[in-house]
Amino acid sequence: MRVLHVAAEMFPFVKTGGLADVVAALPAAQRAAGLDARVVLPGYPAILDALRRSRKVHDGGALFGAARVTLRQGVLADSELPVYVIDAPYLYSREGGPYQDAAGREWRDNLQRFALLGWYGSHLAAGDADTRWQPQLLHCHDWHAALACTMLRLHPPRSSRTVFTVHNLAYQGRFDLGDFPLLGLPARCLDGLDGIEFHGQLSFMKAGLVDADVISTVSPTYAREITTAEFGCGLEGVLRSRADDLHGILNGVDPAVWNPATDPHIVSRYDAAHLDDKAPCKAFIQQQMGLSVRSDAPLFAVVSRLSQQKGLDLLLEALPALLAAGGQLVLLGSGDAALEGAFREAARAHPTAVGVQVGYDEAMAHRFIAGADVILLPSRFEPCGLTQLYGLRYGTLPLVRRVGGLADTVDASTGFSFDAADATSLRGAVQHAVAAWRDRPRWLSMQQTAMERDHSWSAAAAAYTELYRSCSLKG
Ligand code: ADP
Repeated sequence: MRVLHVAAEMFPFVKTGGLADVVAALPAAQRAAGLDARVVLPGYPAILDALRRSRKVHDGGALFGAARVTLRQGVLADSELPVYVIDAPYLYSREGGPYQDAAGREWRDNLQRFALLGWYGSHLAAGDADTRWQPQLLHCHDWHAALACTMLRLHPPRSSRTVFTVHNLAYQGRFDLGDFPLLGLPARCLDGLDGIEFHGQLSFMKAGLVDADVISTVSPTYAREITTAEFGCGLEGVLRSRADDLHGILNGVDPAVWNPATDPHIVSRYDAAHLDDKAPCKAFIQQQMGLSVRSDAPLFAVVSRLSQQKGLDLLLEALPALLAAGGQLVLLGSGDAALEGAFREAARAHPTAVGVQVGYDEAMAHRFIAGADVILLPSRFEPCGLTQLYGLRYGTLPLVRRVGGLADTVDASTGFSFDAADATSLRGAVQHAVAAWRDRPRWLSMQQTAMERDHSWSAAAAAYTELYRSCSLKG
């Protein structure tokens, strides 16, 4: 089966979160399973720099405000995955992140930038952007890719079906209604229950939800949660109306990147049979972060975006209890300035027990996850969550709030969880984890169970193949 993924980021070239990990790992797992999977990406500088063996496959001319747009096909450095890259310097060639400038402001032309991504997704699917290759299945990821579903519906007869995967419903791609003409879509796409208008704005996310043949999200629990007002971000009604087409498939872990037995970033490699070799990883992190190097203190870690979603304000409230129980905390993350400041302040107040590194650092993320005893995710909502899966693989037991993918991947034999989003409940779970950690045989057995859990991409890839088949059979 020929599958084209449409996405706005891909590890290791451009990454703001778990989406990038998925877009790198899922197509690779699909190719290993015999599918012809490819990806179409915006030509940001990091993507164009990595592009190898490329040829021009399409001349788009002037599109979405850009005077000159072309499509190239090739591979990215150190990868054999075929990619299509949209070369549109006016829209994509700039310093800063994929969605925001260096100061954290949304790019003012994100509507045009991601309309172009959708345009190429739909034109490749329709067979008129690369005459040599046409996908049978278009797999669009998050709002950035959603318009591909809408645009493809406008061009019957269709040979490709569409799957739209929601990685995080909280980011919706909402724009001024007055900018609708810039999209070049017919007026009938705008209004009504199945239009892209949403509460007086344009919503790319809604476009994907109403126009895809099938919708998926990244865990079974989140698939249920987003049909409720608590988690639906206002789109719960739309999602309920498509309940029969809504599926949850858990993400996997890329073993080439996350494996304690081969990880090049960590000071000592280990596996489930040699957990003693994990101890130097802990001592290294304690030393690196200026904490007392103590094997008798349970070390908790956070590796996360610092946003309201992640519940880290609860952790600040529960921190005195964590320290009183003899624990230490290390945090690696960036985002919300108030949270950054509050965690820095906690590190100043407790220099030998709390260590904070503000920023994004791939190598340190590996060292934190290998070195800690417990990885913390007290999230308010969590579509899937990847760091708890990395924790399981590294024998670093997760302590999580029981929501979304966290509820689907952590149980009492592999970690700790709590229900209510409040500091009291988190404190209880921390104390529970410390007690378990002090019971060495119990801890070792939990670590071994955790490390044996199969969260491979091959299982996820097989589930997606099933989903693709079911939607090819539809209407
Ligand atoms: P989200 O996509 O909501 O940020 P996920 O758990 O799905 O959350 O994915 C987060 C990914 O980003 C993981 O691969 C995690 O290791 C990584 N990550 C988050 N913060 C940092 C950081 N400060 N430095 C390095 N990697 C980070």
